[in-house]
Amino acid sequence: MPIDHRLPYDPDNIFARILRGEVPCNKVYEDGHALAFHDIAPQAPVHVLVIPKGAYVGWDDFAARAPAEAIAGFVRAVGAVARQLGLDGEGYRLLSNLGHDGGQEVPHLHVHIFGGRALGPMLAR
Ligand code: 5GP
Repeated sequence: MPIDHRLPYDPDNIFARILRGEVPCNKVYEDGHALAFHDIAPQAPVHVLVIPKGAYVGWDDFAARAPAEAIAGFVRAVGAVARQLGLDGEGYRLLSNLGHDGGQEVPHLHVHIFGGRALGPMLAR
């Protein structure tokens, strides 16, 4: 079920619990701004999620509210994770779902990194 991204941030969402170490994850990267871990239900040979450490429901409030330093740190972390995974050579896809129409299910901003094969059309037709 997609979430309503206009609701206040829920500090008990699953990614908040992963950030607090209450729920395990298969971590691939962490710095002061971001945490990256393998998706529990991968949809490509490489499917990693990158989340900011701050409490943001999705791209909309992150873009509007986050300090410039947090935005820069998060964007740099996404690039660093993709390079660390060896995806920068053949390429990869980034995706961030927002709210109902985006099909967002977890109400903490996350960018999906997909790679490891040619990914085909951008959207299901
Ligand atoms: P969304 O649809 O919100 O963009 O994507 C949420 C993603 O989080 C899905 O791809 C789903 O498989 C992943 N996910 C949900 N719960 C967990 C979890 O507990 N651990 C991990 N690693 N991934 C999760």
